[in-house]
Amino acid sequence: MQKRLANWGNYPAITSEESAYTQEEQLRSFVVANHGFIARGNGRCYGDASLGKHSLSMLRYDKVLSFDTTAGVLETQAGVTLDQILDIIVPKGWFLPVTPGTKFITVGGAVASDVHGKNHHLEGAFSGHITEMDVIIGDGTTVTCSPDRHTDLYWATCGGMGLTGVITRVKFGLKKMETAYIKQKQIKARNLEEVVRLFDEYKHYTYSMAWIDCLQKGDSFGRSILIVGEHATKAELNGKQAQAPLQLPSKPRLTVPFNLPSFILNTFTVKAFNWLYYGKNFKKEINNVVPYEPFFYPLDAILHWNRGYGKAGFIQYQFVLSLDQKDGLIAILRRISEKGWGSFLAVLKVFGRQDSLISFPMEGYTLALDFPVRKGLFEFLDELDEIVLQYGGRLYLSKDARMKQDVFWKSYPNAERFAEIVKAYNPGKRFESLQSERLLLTK
Ligand SMILES: Cc1cc2nc3c(=O)[nH]c(=O)nc-3n(C[C@H](O)[C@H](O)[C@H](O)COP(=O)(O)OP(=O)(O)OC[C@H]3O[C@@H](n4cnc5c(N)ncnc54)[C@H](O)[C@@H]3O)c2cc1C
Repeated sequence: MQKRLANWGNYPAITSEESAYTQEEQLRSFVVANHGFIARGNGRCYGDASLGKHSLSMLRYDKVLSFDTTAGVLETQAGVTLDQILDIIVPKGWFLPVTPGTKFITVGGAVASDVHGKNHHLEGAFSGHITEMDVIIGDGTTVTCSPDRHTDLYWATCGGMGLTGVITRVKFGLKKMETAYIKQKQIKARNLEEVVRLFDEYKHYTYSMAWIDCLQKGDSFGRSILIVGEHATKAELNGKQAQAPLQLPSKPRLTVPFNLPSFILNTFTVKAFNWLYYGKNFKKEINNVVPYEPFFYPLDAILHWNRGYGKAGFIQYQFVLSLDQKDGLIAILRRISEKGWGSFLAVLKVFGRQDSLISFPMEGYTLALDFPVRKGLFEFLDELDEIVLQYGGRLYLSKDARMKQDVFWKSYPNAERFAEIVKAYNPGKRFESLQSERLLLTK
């Protein structure tokens, strides 16, 4: 079926032939019979990684296959969303080992982007929690791989953006929790120096991230709010919470029904938003116990918030720089503040070590910023790319819609090895996306 498709940034938008199946035999026959298509989850990557002239939607491949409630091991088909999973595991006292900032992604998407969460510095990325998975490779065979089995396929699939094959089944470990609540601490930081110090001071917390006001200059340059948290114990809940410690939060109802005019987001509105967010009444430190949803998924509360950026869409720019390259972070934030193109959302996190083949995280600082698509944006982001390269960093493929080929090839140290493995499992470019063509990922 021909469909108009775009991912979360609404850029680019294309017409694609979409196919979808519910049985593994059908998937296998589709793989063998077709060339130049890409598997697609829930379209929550921002750019063009799951867009192609032909796409294979995995959303109907959505069965939970087994749930060991004693050991905390879940096995699902690849099209199941984290939202569906949480509804099943939370009431039984289990949580996702790693979750991104939205629960509306599929398990296949979590693997193909090797997603990270607020706990990366202590608990790594999604790939660190998988015990095994099945991938239908280019010749139609289903290969079971894991960190100890067919390891080349495993590591090229985790973070490999769907280019090694179609992920069909994933088995992964869960995390035990006593309650569906988070004990959170929010600390206001006057500037970048302070937030960096606070990240270090609070690094023993399982979850951490900071909102940055990237339009500030002078002493307030990089002012932020650090948010850290832990799963709350039963003893830490208040009376009402304690009555149903594992109760699921209610579903979000607010929605943005159509694309808003793009003039709504400008330097003035971003400044106003930041002013309200960091407002004068906000105490230096706030401690409270909140349901897990607003802590992990604050943006999911407003469905389709991406439409707020207007029809032209937006780019999320996310890079990582190693811990000793803080000057690069300063240089990028300065360039943004000089330009006056602030971002509503500017999220800073610290990653821990990760030695994988092609996944995005490496030990260091990662910053994610949203920019509405407008005249001059791509030239400006090319300038930021130069700074990222100069400081030895890289960009997240899951957020990318526009980086140039040489930026990818210069910044991912294992790019050649990745491309060789992709070629072995995906000869003749059976799996291909707009992104893989743009960056020459399938040679
Ligand atoms: C509000 C928001 C917050 C986010 N926060 C984070 C975050 O904190 N950390 C983070 O890491 N990411 C984050 N993301 C990005 C998101 O987690 C990833 O892009 C994720 O991969 C999207 O999954 P999806 O199911 O929507 O897949 P899609 O967006 O449809 O596809 C993503 C990639 O997965 C591949 N893929 C999907 N299914 C399969 C399959 N079955 N077999 C093979 N390949 C497949 C696609 O080809 C594509 O390359 C965020 C996104 C949003 C919208």
